[in-house]
Amino acid sequence: MDKILATIITIGDELLIGQTIDTNSAWMAKELNEIGVWVLRRVAVGDNWDEIWKTLDEESQHAQIILITGGLGPTADDITKPLLCEYFGGKLVVDEGALQNVKNIFKRLNRPMIERNLKQAEVPDVCTVIPNRRGTAPGMWFEKNGKIYVSMPGVPHEMKGMMIDYILPKLPEYYKMPFILHRTLLTAGVGESFLAEMIQDLESSLPAYMKLAYLPNFGMVRLRLTVTGLDKQALENELEETFLKLQGLVKEYMVTNTDETLETIVGRLLHSKKMTMGTAESCTGGFVAHLITSVPGSSKYYKGSIISYSNEIKKEILNVQQDVLDTVGAVSEETVIQMVKGAVKTLNVDYAVATSGIMGPDGGTPEKPVGTVWIAAGNKDQVTAEKFSFRFDRSRNIDLTATYALNMIRKFILEH
Ligand code: ATP
Repeated sequence: MDKILATIITIGDELLIGQTIDTNSAWMAKELNEIGVWVLRRVAVGDNWDEIWKTLDEESQHAQIILITGGLGPTADDITKPLLCEYFGGKLVVDEGALQNVKNIFKRLNRPMIERNLKQAEVPDVCTVIPNRRGTAPGMWFEKNGKIYVSMPGVPHEMKGMMIDYILPKLPEYYKMPFILHRTLLTAGVGESFLAEMIQDLESSLPAYMKLAYLPNFGMVRLRLTVTGLDKQALENELEETFLKLQGLVKEYMVTNTDETLETIVGRLLHSKKMTMGTAESCTGGFVAHLITSVPGSSKYYKGSIISYSNEIKKEILNVQQDVLDTVGAVSEETVIQMVKGAVKTLNVDYAVATSGIMGPDGGTPEKPVGTVWIAAGNKDQVTAEKFSFRFDRSRNIDLTATYALNMIRKFILEH
């Protein structure tokens, strides 16, 4: 079956110097995938006439749909519009709808309008105008040699509005879209290569229209099965059957068979048991709390955190004993165990998780090098603790510690 192929071109020097992170194409790729369009490439180009032109030529050879964002503003470096006009052999004309939109926006903002702003309402006469309900630059839909080209503003919420209101519903009128279905599971505590060994027989027996992807992130690996085809029911059955086999092969390490985050899973577990938890964080400085509270509805099971960054707070609020801090130090099994006990009592929760470690770049010693982390999880009766040795930079060490802390509390809740 032939895939419907798309290229996403993002335009702007700011993307190439790392000033703006290209979130547009990630969002667009996900949305296109949902409706059955396969994104072949994502290309970032600077505000450079020749480069943009060349990219359009190149991508036209491979993709049926070419989506472009950026470079539509009223400033001199925004060259996309005149370029597209020339590329598709048109001339710029004022679009009445777009003009009215620009005028309305300026009226609403109570700001004077200059010639430059009026230029926003000009579009090539060879395109269909896509209204922009969130900004001044209209979108443009071109068709040439059986291919579709769409130009949208770079501002993410303006682009998203156009995609949702206009482009995503319109594309299926042009192509018979295949179904692209995914099933994802999450594993923890096992490396990618070891996983690959475990599932190699299944992987090598997959048909061409079924793909298995390894998506490692912060010490966990997501396995995603994807099928593409036209018969939705048959695809669903086959995907389900293979997914069950996959789960059987990795069950020892599987955290969940859904495409969810650890914090969501922990939340659901607690919610179903009508239990509560809290956190006592030293080296993660509240990051575990942030992850937990990023889940809507977390107030039902999460009570709060004690960010005990200093020994003083560990002692005064979490009742970590002074002699423990003096003898084995803050980054130790004893300390994190006492932090959990202190948090369970002070926060009056059923479960707590605690972190204490050396995140770097400084502060390491020969016995406790940078990346040494102790994590504990428990309730009022029992606490389990584990030592980890991470070897990354500060920010990644914090991310990893938070992930392992969430996984540890998840396991503790399941076992107790
Ligand atoms: P406008 O007409 O509103 O100026 P535009 O089409 O000219 O929009 P740009 O000037 O390229 O868009 O970008 C506007 C803003 O949108 C940028 O400052 C940037 O913050 C954001 N932006 C641009 N491209 C992207 C992208 N690929 N991903 C995320 N944000 C982006």
